Amino acid sequence: NPNNTSNFIKHIINEDLSKGSHNEIVTRFPPEPNGYLHIGHAKSIVLNFELAKEYNGKINLRFDDTNPLKEDQEFVDSIKEDIEWLGYEWSGLHFASNYFDEMYNQAVILIKKELAYVEDLSQEEIREYRGTLTEPGKESPARSRTVEENLALFEKMKNGEFANGEKVLRAKIDMASPNINLRDPVIYRISHTTHHNTGDTWCIYPMYSFAHPLEDAIEGVTHSICTLEFQDQRPLYDWVVENSEIDATPKQIEFARLNLTNTVLSKRKLKQLVDENHVDGWDDPRMPTISGLRRRGFTPESIKTFCREIGVAKADNLVDVRMLEHFIREDLKLTAPRTMSVLHPIKVVITNYPEGEVEWLDADVNPENPDMGMRKIPFSREIYIEQSDFMEDPPKKYFRLFPGNEVRLKHAYFIKCNDVIKDDEGNVVELHCTYDPETKSGSGFTGRKVKGTLHWVEATKAQEAEFRLYDSLIEDDREGNDFLDFVNPNSLEITKGYVEPNMADAKPQDKFQFFRHGYFNVDPKQTTEDLLVFNRIVELKSSFKL
Ligand code: ATP
Ligand code: MG
Ligand code: MG
Repeated sequence: NPNNTSNFIKHIINEDLSKGSHNEIVTRFPPEPNGYLHIGHAKSIVLNFELAKEYNGKINLRFDDTNPLKEDQEFVDSIKEDIEWLGYEWSGLHFASNYFDEMYNQAVILIKKELAYVEDLSQEEIREYRGTLTEPGKESPARSRTVEENLALFEKMKNGEFANGEKVLRAKIDMASPNINLRDPVIYRISHTTHHNTGDTWCIYPMYSFAHPLEDAIEGVTHSICTLEFQDQRPLYDWVVENSEIDATPKQIEFARLNLTNTVLSKRKLKQLVDENHVDGWDDPRMPTISGLRRRGFTPESIKTFCREIGVAKADNLVDVRMLEHFIREDLKLTAPRTMSVLHPIKVVITNYPEGEVEWLDADVNPENPDMGMRKIPFSREIYIEQSDFMEDPPKKYFRLFPGNEVRLKHAYFIKCNDVIKDDEGNVVELHCTYDPETKSGSGFTGRKVKGTLHWVEATKAQEAEFRLYDSLIEDDREGNDFLDFVNPNSLEITKGYVEPNMADAKPQDKFQFFRHGYFNVDPKQTTEDLLVFNRIVELKSSFKL
């Protein structure tokens, strides 16, 4: 719907279409394969893929692989997997490295037009010569080289006759430009490095600011959407396009990147967390990567809804990470089966319940979605409850179990605590209770009321399970110089407990709501034939308001 101007980018596109600048919209998502995608990338993916779809246009997935040092096939594969998992299909799949010949051609064309020259100065000297915001730059002696000299030297660069850093190719623009990016930027450098795609064919590689506009032009991209830090590079982007001999007019549009509370969104930093073993890989459920979020239990829909709701703006801001959590709760509320689990178990013996007997109680699978039907849960003389649901010496207004108090067991009966069994060190190891058969759930019993309702799991048929409970990986009070100073040492708690026996069939990535504990996902990596491992996605409630 071209009338939709809900974000400023659509406004620009609509104008371009009405002026007739383009017949078809072409966008691209251009990740560098030097890490796994994170939730910030998701914002760009949702924007680019959904714009292309809305305008019946095209979207290219383009690997911006012009820096051989950091790139790897593992990252290429993970990026494709993550985009597909989000539910998007690209129109074309491209590698910037396949354009190296064309980029080299375009550089030669610039040299011939006297718009580029080979530089002998070191990186440091180039920086010194470049000047400052208040001072114009100084022209390098190499700037006056003839076309012939430049062509010969550039070819030697290509043929490997120089060492890394010995020469670079610079665009010849304006050493006095108020925009420092235009003071003869470097557009090619020497790097004797094997490239993941082109092997040892090349030892010179184009710089991002030269390569990116050419990539867009080669692919016929009409709207090249990037983050705000590239705003000052736009004049250079336009210069490269204009002076190339490719007939295309891609337009760079900048938008504000996603920043999230308690989260680092930078592949470099995330890689450091992985390499230095602060986490268990790129897909650690604490990571803000797409693969980490997937393993944690986030759904594609929750991530996409979040990305749509935060919107697209021109000014930087900081989004509360609890907003992302809000959308996974919303997504799972009606679809995740509800079930009971005990994370820190303590045994309860119901002394007046017949020994050896098991009865099967009826429980709804999701009270908010009756279509999900009913399940059966066993009840017997021995059950587990949560350690924190019992106190020997409770404070006032404690409505859970304590000696002499009666509580309701969800879907079952009222029980009353009579005896506390302790070990030699005085630790509570077992509780002895009695139940009242008249109080059975669903029987319509109204004889008396209790204030606490506890979850529980029957002991003899319970399924053992491991639970991984997460806190923010990054702490919020930012005092210190390095982000590693904010890594939360208590971001993971592992407990062993029990789930209902029907959970034996749970498969990796199945999602559940555990009564009182939150939403959980069956971990696809740690779960084995013998042990179910659950990741807590989020707790049930949050003080966050949308
Ligand atoms: P990082 O700084 O994490 O390495 P990047 O921008 O260097 O990210 P690229 O692989 O170059 O990573 O990014 C691909 C696309 O994703 C770019 O168009 C970039 O603008 C976009 N992108 C990256 N991070 C964010 C973010 N936090 N919010 C929105 N878009 C982002
Ligand atoms: Mg980058
Ligand atoms: Mg970056």
